[in-house]
Amino acid sequence: MILIDGKKIAAELREELKKEVSSLKTKYNKIPGLSVILIGDLTPSQIYVKNKEKFANEVGLRSEVIKYPDSVKEKVILDKISELNSNDSVSGILVQLPLPKHINKQKIIEAIAPSKDVDGFHPMNVGNLSSGYQSSIPCTPLGCYLLIKKIEPNLSGKKAVIVGRSNLNGKPMTQLLLKENCTVTITHSRTKNLKAECLEADIIVAAVGIPELVKGDWVKKDTIVIDVGINKTDKGIVGDVAFDEVSKNAKALTPVPGGVGPMTIACLLKNTIDCFKRSQI
Ligand code: NAP
Repeated sequence: MILIDGKKIAAELREELKKEVSSLKTKYNKIPGLSVILIGDLTPSQIYVKNKEKFANEVGLRSEVIKYPDSVKEKVILDKISELNSNDSVSGILVQLPLPKHINKQKIIEAIAPSKDVDGFHPMNVGNLSSGYQSSIPCTPLGCYLLIKKIEPNLSGKKAVIVGRSNLNGKPMTQLLLKENCTVTITHSRTKNLKAECLEADIIVAAVGIPELVKGDWVKKDTIVIDVGINKTDKGIVGDVAFDEVSKNAKALTPVPGGVGPMTIACLLKNTIDCFKRSQI
């Protein structure tokens, strides 16, 4: 079984991005910039943002974190986004989710200029991705896609089963694999026989949020299994895949932690650079 080392693959990607930033600097005499808006003091959000900033600096991006208290008014955030939208030195804007209840997530997402939407959540980017046009692609599914391609460069005709249909993970993952000519089944909480669906798969991507949902006997030999889940349990952080059981069958499997997680941040940096490049055309 191949243990898909997301930490190592993400470090390699960051190294490539660092070189790219350096050559963009030479070519345009400026560097891509990422602006992150962080509202409130939720610990996981603070950790994510700190890591995003650390790795953005590592690859040579200009990065800033704009912090607001939980009580900030929605209008203040919308005004800040509008200011960042028209600032040429800002290539990418990210508003860290989740947001406090009084702030309308959809309104915030739609306020970000699609050309600077590094999360790929703006409806225009969602539509472009599903139409097969150029778009920002949500970072986690993009990271999963790159990991799958490392194991199997030619995905044409493969049967992929996506477990979970969230806008963040399952749906964009489906679009990415469809574009690679996979036959994709998207499953969710009302799917009748999830085990039977998974047993058909050459590729399984599990993005559910249920600890170790995907069992060893749900996976046929030679399946590539990507575990997006991050679940806090008594035995520590586990994924949506029963790692020990599934590793006996799968062709390749991501660990949790150290699989998809590191790729998510690397892909955010990639998206920022891609937004910058598109803005220079
Ligand atoms: P989400 O928005 O809560 O969506 C979960 C999906 O799983 C829903 O579509 C739901 O179906 C489906 N589901 C629930 N129970 C199911 C079951 N018994 N069988 C099949 N499907 C079921 O979750 P998310 O935001 O996509 O996140 C999923 C997991 O990924 C979480 O553990 C999260 O922490 C993790 N995550 C990791 C990263 C990373 O960088 N590694 C990034 C983002 C998220 P319905 O639509 O029918 O409700």
